[in-house]
Amino acid sequence: MKALLVESDFKTPGGYPTAAIERLIKQLNDRDIEVMRATSVPDGESIIDANEPIDCLLLARSMDPKEVDPAQNLLDKLHERQENAPVFLLSDRGTVTKTLSLEMMEQISEFAWILEDSADFIAGRIMAAIRRYRQQLLPPLMSAIMKYNQTHEYSWAVPGHQGGVGFTKTPAGRIFHDFYGENLFRTDSGIERTALGSLLDHTGAFKDSETNIARVFGAEKSYSGVVGTSGNNRSVMQACLTEKLAAVVDRNCHKSIEQGLILTGAAPVYMNPIRNAYGIIGPVPNSEMWYNTIEYKLLHNPFGERDNGYLVLTNSTYDGICYNVAAIERAISPGAGRESIVPVLHFDEAWYGYARFNTMYKNYFAMRDNPKDHASNLSTVVATQSSHKMLNALSPASYIHIRNGEKPLDFPRFNQAYMMHTTTSPSYIIAASNDIAAQMMDGECGQSLTQEAINEAVDFRQALARLYAEFQKKGEWFFKPWNIEKGRKPGEEKDVPFQDIPAEALATDQSYWVMNPDDEWHGFKGLDADWAMIDPVKVSILAPGINVDGTLEDTGVPAALVNAWLARNGIVPTRTTDFQLMFLFSMGVTKGKWGTLLEALLSFKRHYDANTPLSEVLPELAAKYSAEYGALGLKDLGDKMFAFLKQDDLGKLLNQAYDALPTPVLTPRAAYQKMVQGECELVGLDDLHGRVAANAVLPYPPGIPMLMSGEQFGEPVDGKESAQIAYLRALQKWDDTFAGFEHETAGITITDGKYQVMCIKTI
Ligand SMILES: *Cc1c(COP(=O)(O)O)cnc(C)c1O
Repeated sequence: MKALLVESDFKTPGGYPTAAIERLIKQLNDRDIEVMRATSVPDGESIIDANEPIDCLLLARSMDPKEVDPAQNLLDKLHERQENAPVFLLSDRGTVTKTLSLEMMEQISEFAWILEDSADFIAGRIMAAIRRYRQQLLPPLMSAIMKYNQTHEYSWAVPGHQGGVGFTKTPAGRIFHDFYGENLFRTDSGIERTALGSLLDHTGAFKDSETNIARVFGAEKSYSGVVGTSGNNRSVMQACLTEKLAAVVDRNCHKSIEQGLILTGAAPVYMNPIRNAYGIIGPVPNSEMWYNTIEYKLLHNPFGERDNGYLVLTNSTYDGICYNVAAIERAISPGAGRESIVPVLHFDEAWYGYARFNTMYKNYFAMRDNPKDHASNLSTVVATQSSHKMLNALSPASYIHIRNGEKPLDFPRFNQAYMMHTTTSPSYIIAASNDIAAQMMDGECGQSLTQEAINEAVDFRQALARLYAEFQKKGEWFFKPWNIEKGRKPGEEKDVPFQDIPAEALATDQSYWVMNPDDEWHGFKGLDADWAMIDPVKVSILAPGINVDGTLEDTGVPAALVNAWLARNGIVPTRTTDFQLMFLFSMGVTKGKWGTLLEALLSFKRHYDANTPLSEVLPELAAKYSAEYGALGLKDLGDKMFAFLKQDDLGKLLNQAYDALPTPVLTPRAAYQKMVQGECELVGLDDLHGRVAANAVLPYPPGIPMLMSGEQFGEPVDGKESAQIAYLRALQKWDDTFAGFEHETAGITITDGKYQVMCIKTI
């Protein structure tokens, strides 16, 4: 246990009460409470800023009336992240009520008269306050696990390793045991232990945990998932779909959605997102979600199924684009006299669990406001969130949140689907991390944690924009952030450059991030107003070389090269396309971490401009492929890559390949079954025309399926290869030309450098 003692301006008539304070500290130490000392209020603030966990704040000060109480800020800071942490005011009696503001009074738990009360007495009260604080700190499941761990120390009938003991019997096991620590093994329990209840039946502490999660995330009902959003997505689909139903599916969907289609046999129709020249995938347009559009697609469903079971949309997208969900609900709403065409509206929010906790995202996520406000004539809304991705939980922890609407999901029946994808040996540790992830976002903490990440991202974006502008003045190139280029200062009429807008305004006002159809910077054509925003914490930066209309300049810096350089320097972007690199500012971000990133980008520029030999800047690459790269400099390689992109016009090929959806021949399930039966074969690019893919083909970039399983590669058009095959051919040629920079294409087998696709056998 730890207490922070802040000694500020504390004078009694006899001077500073050194002896009394020392006696108190000794008493606290005797009770295993460590005391950190700060000699001033600012010193105390800096300790709290560093996220030092403290169980109690001791504020030693006199009651001199001051206009602005300096300690107020200290208490605000403390309670932002440590909401109920007790505060003791150590003072001399008499002046308290006269000089303390009401706001201060409310935040102080107890007063102690340092000169009158005995040190033992005060220490006892502090100890009791710490105990009470600790008891309410933990969410239900974690609290139950810890209690159970204590009372049943030697009686856990855990899995074979018996609370970890099994591991200690050979050296390798012992190292594993010692590395992770005893508590992990002691709390790794089998479900036959019923004291904590059951995750699969949603009873006991597990039930309490899910109730708490639902409260924090604004759901009518939440499920704590231990099989990732992959498993959760499949569960949701299995609860909603059968082979007699259609599903309306975002083309920009995760692999698990295709798996859900395979498992359920549902007949998909798709919603196609827009793209820009940078290779960034935009939103699915509003018109794709109109009642009439969906109705039309269902009527023309190639597989004949017209009854829709479900619609799924990725929010936010991999490029950090978020939808105005309030507007989506309006778009799909049936209007008077018609039945809803979307009984269940599923938002795959794998990357987006934090949205509810910051007004930055107002209206742009599924579980808004109060679950009770969800009108009963709306679609049932489901959100799946990987708590391990953007909240603080262990892989593969994840949530399912549900708000029932016109066609409610029946929870006991839903649980059959939940169990189908959840093991009968769920990890208590992962479930506990879901419990904690929710608790961490509760109250003030969620706002405070998300705001910190947003502030850091805004600072980085502005610093980058500033550098870009400075280089531009000198006629030099640099990276720029993908966001508005100019905007208004609050209360003013004239636009100023992005970097001159007050950071505070950018970090709190959503309107700076909502994409305006009339703006050019985003590069999307046919964007709807008030429909999509970019998430400030998912920072895309653009390398030079491409114009917003997709035409390439004379020179440019391919992102693949920047990516390789950054990786060599221990910096890993989350996404790289031809000219885009993306960085996540998650809650784990440390203050100022972006300074290192900025340095690395500057350093890249220096080496690039100096054409430093690859043997110096990318030595492993230059050594491994010495024939190709041994004699080249960084810029030489960049120029070669850029020339390739320009000559083969990869961007244009990509756009053509994705412009029209391919023809579906088999449902994903039928294609999969063919594969299981061995009715499939690998086919090279030369023979792909007209063939039906047995698995989804997903080139990266752009990272969305070009073909879903069961869809057909086009026929040649005007003697020219179909766009999809042409794009794969260009990727193959790139891989041939730039060893060490190969693309990752899911669903492609590469044999001796040749691309092959698993296709259905033709008979
Ligand atoms: C990562 C991801 C998933 C799968 O989540 P896991 O927790 O890794 O299983 C599903 N959907 C989207 C959009 C994702 O990005």
